[in-house]
This record gives sequence, C-alpha cells and structure tokens, in this order.
Amino acid sequence: MINYYSTEGTADIVSFEDALMAGLAPDRGLYMPERIATLPDSLYSSTTFAECAYAAAEAQVDGAIPSDDLKNICREAFNFPVPVTRLHDSIYHMELFHGPTAAFKDFGARFMARCMSYFIGKKSSRITILVATSGDTGSAVARGFYKVDGIDVVILYPSGKVSHLQEKQLTTLGENITALEVQGTFDDCQHMVKEAFIDQELLKTMQLSSANSINIGRLLPQSFYYNWAYLQVQQKKSDPVIFCTPSGNFGNLTAGLLAHKMGLPVEKFIAATNINDVVPEYLETGVFTPRPSKHTYSNAMDVGNPSNFSRMQALYGSREAMNNKIEGYNTTDAETIATIRSVYDRIGYILDPHSAVGYNAIQMFYKKHGECDTPIILLETAHPAKFHDTIHNAIDRDIEIPDVLREAMAKEKHSIVIENNLPALKEFLLNR
Ligand SMILES: *Cc1c(COP(=O)(O)O)cnc(C)c1O
Repeated sequence: MINYYSTEGTADIVSFEDALMAGLAPDRGLYMPERIATLPDSLYSSTTFAECAYAAAEAQVDGAIPSDDLKNICREAFNFPVPVTRLHDSIYHMELFHGPTAAFKDFGARFMARCMSYFIGKKSSRITILVATSGDTGSAVARGFYKVDGIDVVILYPSGKVSHLQEKQLTTLGENITALEVQGTFDDCQHMVKEAFIDQELLKTMQLSSANSINIGRLLPQSFYYNWAYLQVQQKKSDPVIFCTPSGNFGNLTAGLLAHKMGLPVEKFIAATNINDVVPEYLETGVFTPRPSKHTYSNAMDVGNPSNFSRMQALYGSREAMNNKIEGYNTTDAETIATIRSVYDRIGYILDPHSAVGYNAIQMFYKKHGECDTPIILLETAHPAKFHDTIHNAIDRDIEIPDVLREAMAKEKHSIVIENNLPALKEFLLNR
C-alpha cells in the first residue's frame, strides 16, 4: 500500500486512511504520497467519467479501499456531467461546474466525504470537520457531508467577503452543518483552523479533521479530471496538452501536477492568478513572499499564502524544475472584466470571473510564445451565475441561474458571528 509523508518531514509516515482523517499532519505539514502510482492502461479506454476516475483512483489508493467500494464511491461522487469541448482554435474548455454547488470543489468534497464515510462506517466514532472557506470550498464540503452519519461540519467564512449567493449556500443547510461568520479575512479563517488542529485542549476532547484543499482526499480526485480532459482532446496516448488552471491555494494545479507525475503527457501548466500572485512571482524571481490577500472579483482565488505551495516544492524540488513545467500569469480586475466582455462578444460564451482569469493567462502565454497547435485546456472552475454582479458589469445580459443555486437563494440564512481568533473558535467548539 502507498503511505503518506508530511511535507514538513518530521511527522510519522501514515496510511491513506490516517492522512485522510487527519487532514493536516501533526508537524503542520501537508500529506503527500510516498510513491506516485502509474496511470493504468485501462484509463485510456474508459468511456465515462466515473470509470476514468476509478482507474486512476485504484492505482493511487492502492488497496486502502477495496475495489468494489472504491468503484461505488466514484460512481456516487461523480454523478454529473463533465463536458470538455473546443472553445475556439486550439483552446478547449472543461466545465467543472455541473455538480450540486456549481463549482469544481464538488469533485474533491464528494469523493473525500464518501471515503471518510467508508472508514468511519467501520468504527463507531464521531468527527468534526473544520473548513475555512473563501467562498466555494465551504458549500461544496457542506453539501458533500450533508446528513452523513457521524460527521459534524463547521465552516468558517470571512464576513462580508463572499458573494451573497455563496453565503446562502454556506448558511442554509442546517442539520449537521454549522456556519461561523468570522469578523476577519479568509487568511484569518485559515489560520484559526490551522491553530485549532494543534490545540492540545481541543485534541483531547474531540477528533478534528480538515476538508480544505490541504486534505489529500480532496487533492486526489481533482487529478481525475485532468486525465478525463486529456482523453476527450487527444487521440494518441503520447501527444501532449497544456492545461491552464485558475489558482488560489493551488490545490487544483497541484492535482494536475500529480496527474502528470502519474504519467499524463502534459507539456506545460499555466498557473493563472488574480493580483494575489505570490506563486507567479516566485516562479519569476525565486522569492516566495506570502502577504495579506487582496479582494478581487475572482474572490475564491484571493489567497495570500497558498497552502499547496509546499506540495509543489515536494513534487519538483527546485525552482528550475518547477519553471520547466509551470508558467505563472496574473490578471487584474479590469482585465477580468475586459476578458469576459471580449469572449462573449467574440463567441457568445460567458466566462465566470475565475475562468476569465484563466482565459486571459492563455492570451498572455500566446503573447509570450506565439500561438501554438498544442491544445490548451482551460479548467473552468465555477458557473457564471454565481457571480452575477461582476458578469453584469461586463456584459449587458442576465444569466440563467441553475436550479441548485435557486433553491439555496430561497432559504433563510443561519450563521453564528465570531471574532477572528482561536479562543473564539474554541469557545464555540467546546460549548456546542
Ligand atoms: C477554490 C477556487 C479556485 C482556486 O482553486 P485552488 O485549488 O485553491 O487553487 C478557483 N476558482 C474557484 C471558483 C474556486 O472555488
């Protein structure tokens, strides 16, 4: 079986189950597989997304979950369409927003929830999942775990810094889901969660787990759709593609790197950020400078200290190696709006602000290298209807709201307001 080590290097090597349940390693590092499996040939003949996902999952999960159970997990988790089509010329796009919360985080959350539920089902314990969200993570996780036995979910989100619709999605579920409205930034929320995981008093009283993109159980399934996209676009098993990934915490991009390390032929990864560009800056200068995040239209990517950077380092070792595979580009809010407008005018397609950041990065990539024949696949991370105001600002058109979002809008918000520090979080957790 494949075991998992911590990127900090001092925690014990653990099983897939333990890495999944812990989220963050005890030395505050992120778990990574000791060995990266090779994609099996069966992957290249799969015809449905669930089959394609299972082929890669079985290789990497490597017996930690029996094949039949894993097959069911994939079938149940990935029960919605994942269209990959040509946008224009050599640019393809993969719509990752057809799950229940209309954003790509459904993939990770639904797979992780079902894996955890598989392992919890074998014991009789109860766990609390803590999630910091800058927008979409929380609702995807909440939906993924909604009414799952033995699991409570506590979501921390920055008050006033997520869209109205995102807030509705976070705060209207009830049951085993609680939303904490933190008076601070997303970085505060993320920090509080990290602190809670190493707080001795909390560790003694409850089993805490994480569901942020730091959880290996979320990272793994995000690699599956890179394989799927490749199959839709390339005829031969050896022809490379280029992926463009709108990035914040860089979990999505790291999942692509993982797929590539498993053998997927990828020429380049384009790391697209908004002005929170700590990673593109590192690729350019070699200096990694975390700083407070700035608010933008693509708010799910407003991250000042990308947590998966340590995994990127673990996979590549040096900046030179990283530079060979990854190019970073940043996009301002004004460019985001201009991109939404020009793509709509040109081909009638509406990009959400995050995907627009990706599209603009492709244009910058072309400016730098010239246009190429190698297919570039843009990962579209959210449905545009989730960012109605920004879209309206760019184009004079209303967008059809998917049913899943309409339902959340109609419900009443329930949240608990807390200060942006660990004692406030502890008080809530210990006195529930
Ligand atoms: C979370 C999110 C991102 C960023 O993904 P990371 O894995 O954090 O890099 C991009 N777009 C949307 C819509 C998101 O919800």
